Amino acid sequence: HAKSEGRNTFRFFTERLHAELVERKAMLDQLAQALVQQQFELHYQPVMSVRGGDLHGMEALVRWRHPTLGLVTPERFVPLAEQSGLIVALGHWILTQAIADLARWDAAGLPPLRLAINLSLAQFRDPALVERLEAALSVHQVAAARVELELTETVLMHDLDDAIAIMARLRGIGLGLAVDDFGTGYSSLSYLKRFPVQKLKIDKSFVRGVAQDEEAAAICRSVIALGHNLGLNLVAEGVEDRAELQWLRSHHCDYVQGFLISKPLPLADLQRWVASSRA
Ligand code: C2E
Ligand code: CA
Ligand code: CA
Repeated sequence: HAKSEGRNTFRFFTERLHAELVERKAMLDQLAQALVQQQFELHYQPVMSVRGGDLHGMEALVRWRHPTLGLVTPERFVPLAEQSGLIVALGHWILTQAIADLARWDAAGLPPLRLAINLSLAQFRDPALVERLEAALSVHQVAAARVELELTETVLMHDLDDAIAIMARLRGIGLGLAVDDFGTGYSSLSYLKRFPVQKLKIDKSFVRGVAQDEEAAAICRSVIALGHNLGLNLVAEGVEDRAELQWLRSHHCDYVQGFLISKPLPLADLQRWVASSRA
């Protein structure tokens, strides 16, 4: 590209690279501050049971209420938090907050839901994870069986024997485990049966257009069959229209999540939504 642009391009490129580095550095500093200043919030996206149409659970999704940028999505700061190591402290805040919110949900007298929490690699590997989870569960009187941890294939395939041992410990205290973004990583099928997981979440890239796209349909059909053969429940994420839901229903997917049902919402909004739809 630089060659075709002529002589001054190199300078332009380094300036841009420099600007990006400065922005990254600023973002990192702000990120560390954000935790102290409580600028993070959790939104919750409902998970619906396909068969009964009732709510099954909710997934906690973190956002950053940035003082000038507004609401920042996790794609923009979770990778940075991972690279800087801040994710362990942030992740601890997330799981404590999410479990407190689940107790708040119960206190509002709404039908009990399961709670799904996303874990990053460093958090999954943190030796204090089990203790932290146990502490949060006991402080808020939440049964471990209602909480499910979502782990991507990348997290699970990193040092496999260790990963299986950590999963066994988490299962040991009664937590649920799910493989997130299934199909986008590199986990081999022979390992899948060694993972003590209960759910597979089909990545939204396969769910999108499943009703028209033959290839997406072939992948979803295979993943559902594979999951069911291994005794797992299937969750389709990113369901946006009725045709996708209809397809998933007729192919016996267990749960769905997506904008068709609801966007991720602050807890109070989700509570209002559920309360009004019951009335
Ligand atoms: P994910 O775990 O796969 O979460 C699903 C993402 O899909 C969410 O994006 C959600 O808002 C979005 N989504 C839900 N329904 C639809 C739909 O119908 N259509 C489309 N196009 N998108 C939909 P979000 O909240 O921006 O999160 C992005 C990713 O950031 C998550 O992907 C997860 O990998 C990560 N993340 C979010 N919260 C946390 C967290 O608390 N901890 C960690 N470690 N990672 C998190
Ligand atoms: Ca997830
Ligand atoms: Ca996903």
